[in-house]
Amino acid sequence: TKKAAVIGAGIAGIASAIRLAVKGYEVDVVEANAYAGGKLSGFEDVTPDGQSYRFDAGPSLFTMPHLVDELFKLAGRNPADYFEYTRLDETCRYFWDDNTRLTAWADLDRFGKEIETVFGEPAMHLHQHLEASARKYAVTEKLFLHRSLHKLSTWFNRDALIGYLNLPRLGVFGTMNGANERRFDHPRLVQLFNRYATYNGSDPYQTPATMNIIPHLEYNIGAFFPKGGMISITNSLLKLAEELGVRFHYNTYVTEIVTKGKLAVAIKFTSQAGRLLNQEIATSNSIGSEVSVVVSNMDIVSTFRKLLPNARQPERILRQPKSSSGLIFYWGIKQQFTELGLHNIVFSTDYRAEFNALFGQNQVPDDPTIYLNCSAKLNPDDAPAGCENWFILLNVPNNTGQDWDAIIARTRQRIVQKLSHMLGTDVSSLIETESILDPRSIEARTSSTQGALYGNSSNSRFAAFLRHANFSRQFKNLYFVGGSVHPGGGIPLCLLSAKIATDLV
Ligand code: FAD
Repeated sequence: TKKAAVIGAGIAGIASAIRLAVKGYEVDVVEANAYAGGKLSGFEDVTPDGQSYRFDAGPSLFTMPHLVDELFKLAGRNPADYFEYTRLDETCRYFWDDNTRLTAWADLDRFGKEIETVFGEPAMHLHQHLEASARKYAVTEKLFLHRSLHKLSTWFNRDALIGYLNLPRLGVFGTMNGANERRFDHPRLVQLFNRYATYNGSDPYQTPATMNIIPHLEYNIGAFFPKGGMISITNSLLKLAEELGVRFHYNTYVTEIVTKGKLAVAIKFTSQAGRLLNQEIATSNSIGSEVSVVVSNMDIVSTFRKLLPNARQPERILRQPKSSSGLIFYWGIKQQFTELGLHNIVFSTDYRAEFNALFGQNQVPDDPTIYLNCSAKLNPDDAPAGCENWFILLNVPNNTGQDWDAIIARTRQRIVQKLSHMLGTDVSSLIETESILDPRSIEARTSSTQGALYGNSSNSRFAAFLRHANFSRQFKNLYFVGGSVHPGGGIPLCLLSAKIATDLV
C-alpha cells in the first residue's frame, strides 16, 4: 500500500488524513501534543470544591458546516451519525459603552428592522451589503477557495474568466472600511461590518474590500453551533479517521523532513513526551523511508525553518507580516446573565485607534473590543448550575517580544472594568476559575509563528498570492495544509486546504 505521513493533528491535518485514507493510503499522523485538534481543542477548569467548567480553547464560531459533513460523506458515512449542529437564530449581540445594544438576528428581515430601530439605518443598506457580499463570494469561491492558486489550470478555464470579468466588483482596490463607509450611514454599523476583518486577523482600514465576502458566510449561509461545543468537530473527525485506520502518534514532535533529490523520503521525530526536548534526541525510529506522501500541517514558516533548513526557503512568502494574535481569558463565572448570548461583542469607542495600536504600533489597545463567548448558553453542561463559562478574546498584535505579563495584568483590569460597567455588577468577584492563553503560549502549543492566528496577514491586496501553495515546488511528494497556507486561516479554509492538497496528490 501507498503510505502517507501527516505532520500535526490540527483540523487540516486530520482532514488530510481522512482524505488520504479514503484514497487508499495507509496514514500516520504525528502530533507533538498529547491531544488532537491543535487550536481546535478543549479543556476543563475545576474549582477547589470540584465544580467543573468546560472550554473550547480556540475557535468559537462555526460556519460552513457542509465542509465537515463532506468528509463523512466522502468516507461513505452519514454525517448525522457522528456530528450534529444547529443554525443559530441570533448571530451576535453587540454592546457599546453608552448602553446601546443591538442583536444581529439570523432572520435578515428582523435584523434589518433592528438596525432601523436602534440606529435609524435603512434596512435596505443591510440587504444590499449582504447581496454584494454573496456576489463577491460566488466569484472568489471558484477562483480562490477550491483550487490551488499556483497551478496554471486555475487561471485558464471558464470560472477564471468569469472571475477576471468581475474583478472590478471584488473591491481589490479599495479598503473594507472605505466600502463600508459608502454603504452605511451610521458609524456603528460601519464598525460592526469592519469587524469582519478580524476573522482573518487583518485591519479593516488596510485589508481590501474583497474581504467583505466574510459576512456572506455568517449571515447568508449561517452561523452554527455543534452539539457538545466546538470540540465535537475535532472529536467526530478524529473518530472517523481512526475508523478509517489512520494511526495517530501523540507526544511526538517531528524534527526533520528528510529529503533526497526531489523527494521527501522520511520524517524524523522525537518520541519523548513534550516538544520542548532537545531536538538532537531525534531517534532513528522515523516512520520510514517508504513514506510516499508527506503532508505538513505545521505552520509554513516553522516547516521551512525547522524541518527543512537546508531546502531553498521561499523568503518572500515566509517574511510577510503576520496576522494578529489573540489574548484569551477563560473564566468560570458563578452567576448567569440574561443580557448575554452565545456570541457577544463589546465594542471599543474608537475603532480606528484600536487598529492603529494593533497594526501600527504592535501594541494592545487601551480600549480593546471584547469578544465574549459563553457556550453554556447552548450547552448547559459546560458550566455548573447557575454559572457561565466565559471565553474572552481580544485581538492583540502577534508576538514581537512585548512584555506580555505586564500587558495581561493591565488588560485584565480593563476588561473587568468594562464588563462590570456593562453588566452593572462587579465581575471580578464572580471569577471562580481562570486560564489564560497569549501569543507566546499559542506559538508554543501549535507552532504558529509569532502566535499569529491566521498565518500571514491579509492587509495587502496581494495577500492571497503571498500565502504558500498547498504543494512544494522542490519536493514532488510534499504538501502543505492549515491556516498558514492557501487559502487561509479559520476552520472552513483549513478544511479546504486539505481538499486542495489531497486533490493534487
Ligand atoms: P493548528 O490548529 O495550528 O494545529 C497544528 C498542529 O500541528 C498542532 O496540534 C501542533 O502541535 C502540530 N504540530 C506543529 N508542528 C509539529 C511538529 N513539528 N511535529 C508534530 N506536530 C506538530 N477559526 C474559525 O473558523 N472560527 C473561529 O471562531 C476562530 N476563532 C479562533 C480563536 C482562537 C483563540 C484561535 C487560536 C483560533 C481561532 N480560529 C477560528 C482559527 C482556527 O482555530 C485555525 O485557523 C485552525 O484551527 C488552524 O488549524 P490548522 O489545521 O492550521 O492547525
